[in-house]
Formats: sequence, C-alpha cells, structure tokens
Amino acid sequence: MIFTLSTTHTPATDLGFLLYKHPDRLQTFQLRFGQAHVYYPLATPEKCTAALLLDIDPIQLFRSQKVSGNSSFALRQYVNDRPYVASSLLSVAIAQVYGSALSGVCKSKPELAARELPFEASLSVLPSRGGEDLLHHLFEPLGYDLKIHTYPLDARFPEWGPSEAFTVELRSHKRLQDLLAHLYVLIPVLDDDKHYYVGEDEIDKLLARGEGWLASHPARQLIVERYLRHRRKLTASALSQLREEDAPDEAGDEQSGRKEESIEKSTGLHQQRLDAVVDRLHASGARRVADLGCGEGRLIGLLLPDGQFTQVLGMDVSARSLSEAAYRLQLDRLPGAQRRKLTLIQGSLLYRDRRLAGYEAVTLVEVIEHLDPARLEVVERVVFGQAQPGLVILTTPNREYNRLWPGLPAGELRHPDHHFEWTRAEFQSWAEGVAGAYGYGLAILPVGSLDPQAGPPTQMAVFTREGRGA
Ligand code: SAH
Repeated sequence: MIFTLSTTHTPATDLGFLLYKHPDRLQTFQLRFGQAHVYYPLATPEKCTAALLLDIDPIQLFRSQKVSGNSSFALRQYVNDRPYVASSLLSVAIAQVYGSALSGVCKSKPELAARELPFEASLSVLPSRGGEDLLHHLFEPLGYDLKIHTYPLDARFPEWGPSEAFTVELRSHKRLQDLLAHLYVLIPVLDDDKHYYVGEDEIDKLLARGEGWLASHPARQLIVERYLRHRRKLTASALSQLREEDAPDEAGDEQSGRKEESIEKSTGLHQQRLDAVVDRLHASGARRVADLGCGEGRLIGLLLPDGQFTQVLGMDVSARSLSEAAYRLQLDRLPGAQRRKLTLIQGSLLYRDRRLAGYEAVTLVEVIEHLDPARLEVVERVVFGQAQPGLVILTTPNREYNRLWPGLPAGELRHPDHHFEWTRAEFQSWAEGVAGAYGYGLAILPVGSLDPQAGPPTQMAVFTREGRGA
C-alpha cells in the first residue's frame, strides 16, 4: 500500500522540512504490524514527492491485535486485503511517521507549516465502502479535486463489475496538517473498519483530528458513526459535542447572536455581569480561577492583568471561540507574566476532566442555558462533584425580564442557541437543589437594572463550598 504526497510549492524540496524526512535518504520505521518506508521518488525544486510505503506483515498484524474477529473463514486472519489497501493501519503509520507534520509542528520552517500550499496526495489503493460517490461526498466539501481510477473486481470476469478499491488522487491548497488530519480520519471511515478496539478515548482522537472541519462537514454523522465503529453511545456523545461546537457559529445564529450582543452593549449588561463576577472573585480571595465556557475570553481579559489571580484557565467546547479568544487577548503580545498565568483548553462540560482540578474558583458566565437541560445533571457532577472548587459563580438570563428586552418578540428567548431561560423561581429551585446535593452554601444576586416586577435581566448564583471557604 503506498501513499504519496507531492507539492509544487517552490522550492518543493521544503517538503523534506515539513515531513522531517530528508529527501536524499530512505528511512524505515518499525510499527507493531510491519514496517513503513519513506523515500522520495522525485525531489526537484519544482516538484517533490514523498512516498510512504506500508509493508504490513499479516502474521505480525494478527499477533498485535488484542481482539480477533470471529470469522467463518479460519485463514482470514492471515489471508485478507489488509496489506494491500489503505486502512486504519495507514492512519496509525501517518501519526507515527509524520507525527510532527500532523500536529502542525515544523521547527525549522514554522511559517511553512502554517501556510496553505499546493498538495497532491495519492493513495493506492483506497477501499471505499460506498463506492466512488462516497469518495466525492467526503473529500469535495473539504475543497479537494479528485481523480479516481477504478478497477474491475476481476479482469477475467468483467460482468462482476467494479471493485470497491480505487486509486485516488486528491488535489488542494491546504496546510499540510489539515491534509494529514483529513486522511487520518477519513481513510478508516471509507474502509468502515478498524484493526483495534474502539473505546471512549477514540472520541477525543476524532474531535482533536476533526477540529475545525468535522463539525461543519455535511457527512459528519456518517463520519462519526463509522469512525467509532457504529458504537451507539460513543457516536451519540461525539455528535452532541460536535453540535455544540458548530451551533454557536452557524450563520443564522451569528446574526441573532449579534442582535443579543448589541442589545447587551447598549445596556452595558455584559460589562455589568463581568464586573459582578470579578467583584465576587475579589471578595473570595481566590487566586486560581477556571472560566468554563469562556467564549471569546472577555472575563479572562479582566482577570489576567489583575494581580490577585495567579492562574487562569479558559475552557470552551468551540475551537472557533478559543481561537477568537486567543486573537482578542493578543496572546502573542501579552507580557510574559500574564501569558504564563493563562491556559486555554478545548473541552466539554459534559465530560469529567482532570484538567479542572485544583482551581479555587470556577465561573460559568451565560453558559448553562446553551446546554440541553437533560444534560445539566452531568455538568453539575463534573463541576460540583468532580472539580469541587471552593467557589462557583454562575450567571444566566432571567426570562421574566424578556418582555422588557427591546426588540425581542414576546415568548422568544434571547438567543437561538439557548435551550432554555429560567424565571427567578426556576433558577432558585435548581440552584438550591445543586447546593444541597453537593454541600455548597448559596447566595442568589441580581445583575443589571432591577425592574420592580420582572426583577433583574441577569441572575447570578454564588456557591461556596461548605467547610472549606474559597
Ligand atoms: N462566558 C462567555 C461565553 C458565553 S456563550 C461570555 O460570557 O462571554 C456560551 C459559551 O459556552 C460558548 O462559547 C459555547 O461554545 C460554550 N459551550 C457550550 N456548550 C459547552 C460545553 N458543553 N462545554 C464547554 N463550553 C460550552
């Protein structure tokens, strides 16, 4: 099985730097299931091609597998198509042999790794359970031009029709990192198989390699189902995380998002909310703060220059929000001391996350209403049961105030991505339940200008862990 990668970027031999493989040398890598050889059939300044030849040893492959498939054909373990087609074995080889390039790292020429360059990738042969159509369906939305070569299943019997294996050439201007990530995910998807057991950690791999493209791919459902070997629970969990990543960015939402924002700007509500949160953090004396669902990092921008806070974590499920946060906070220009305080991570509130341990205070500013109410219990467990900070500050809209909201039609929520907005009584009853269940004291405070009937536009709950102040 052979995978070649060519570029016509000049000088094309820069490909050697990007892949960390010298064009003059043949290099061989030992993998658990065979060997990978990398060599350059062509290396000129105008065009350069790196070939990755995967030499799979079916016996080694069988022995390296923890679970063997039961098959009616006893020799299948040794006699199969695995050595000849691109499969999850190639994804593993890409991660091991081209690992730095897949992570976007190029020490000697970082600017090249960050740039979109003209690439051509060729896979010989690539199985596609779903034929030529599926190849188009998966690669074209990502901006590739495809050239597909078909083969008869058996040349002696043309009536048997075409084989499901193709030689595929993909052409596009891409960052090398993105091209490799696309192949890493889509090859096993096309093959609809994997040579290893697929567990929970496979979701993280998929979301990491799918970052920036999978959430908006029209075939994301099929990709996720096949990548996770049709395991229903894993698939549901991955799809729900992708939906959350995608939803705030969808075009329709963006407009109404701006509407909400502009109303908030004119009333200064967003700033008042952030000020209220910072005041409470000050009063608590907390030094290590985690802002969960940090969005574009507005709260973080207030915490970093403040000497009280020594460690600030921003977490969001949306990669796009995080890069916006990095841009808004001008990470690369921050003074060293502030830069060292800050950690930005992608993560979901719906999963236990050890990175959240050890913070004295957790803030959730206008986040819970973006979650499915049926999943709130999970968030409660993650924040109050597992991370267990001394202090949790949480804000959410007060629905009763909506009728005073300029320009908001009656009965509508403030943002199309909101799953719910609570009245004061609903919020209080939820917050009391959580405080009682996890051993926290509770204070509920108004934020923004109070209306005598409707109350404040924003409600804030301050939870303080009992027996151990923040
Ligand atoms: N706290 C910010 C952003 C609020 S918007 C502010 O006040 O400006 C809600 C944010 O929650 C979005 O950035 C969204 O991506 C994030 N979010 C939604 N679901 C999430 C989840 N499951 N885990 C983490 N963040 C989530």
